[in-house]
Amino acid sequence: MTYENLRQDMIDTCIFMNDKGINQGTAGNISVRVDEGFLITPSGVPYAEMVPADIVLMDIEANSSGARKPSTEWRFHRDIMQKKPEVGAVIHLHSMFCTSLSMLRREIPAVHYMIAAAGGPTVPCTPYVTWGTQELADAIIGALQNRLACLLANHGMVCVGPNLKKAAWLAVEVETLAAQYWRALQIGEPHVLPDDEIARVMEKFSSYGQGETKHVSCC
Ligand code: 13P
Ligand code: ZN
Repeated sequence: MTYENLRQDMIDTCIFMNDKGINQGTAGNISVRVDEGFLITPSGVPYAEMVPADIVLMDIEANSSGARKPSTEWRFHRDIMQKKPEVGAVIHLHSMFCTSLSMLRREIPAVHYMIAAAGGPTVPCTPYVTWGTQELADAIIGALQNRLACLLANHGMVCVGPNLKKAAWLAVEVETLAAQYWRALQIGEPHVLPDDEIARVMEKFSSYGQGETKHVSCC
């Protein structure tokens, strides 16, 4: 079996998300780019029971190999991999606060500078579209123009990164931001930072940390 370690990393990431309380059950899915196309989680398999051989290998024409059916959301994973060559991993979650805001069909505005990690001054929300459809894939591609994360109306969230570790880091950051925004809304009208401040923060992020940048450019 190819990519055994990467397949295990994908399973570990799914379990981490559920243990952290930002996903639940068999909701959500993950893909990671490989030479042949991408690896994607199988549809409807509980993460605790998943083994590396359950992860499905798909090519960009959507031919799959393996014993399991791929995630029902393979279309948006495939389209992101096809249209965004800088992306190495895609994560979809039904996390509590992103999903709650998506029920209001409300984008996350720049209420904290950390929104810059998601590629711009908003985390946009797609219109409502049935799960697993090409229409949902099209809506996500539209929302991820110049962004690394978006909400899916009445459904959840999607985020991307150059690799699985960084995509998982961003998923936690975006869910944290959604939770902070939600809490602030309980007691008032949060102040929104201007676009030029978010541009300044994005510039600072490019040299933040110990050399290895956490952020990919999306524009
Ligand atoms: P899969 O189990 O087919 O990946 O579906 C989960 C999901 O979140 C659909 O939007
Ligand atoms: Zn979903």
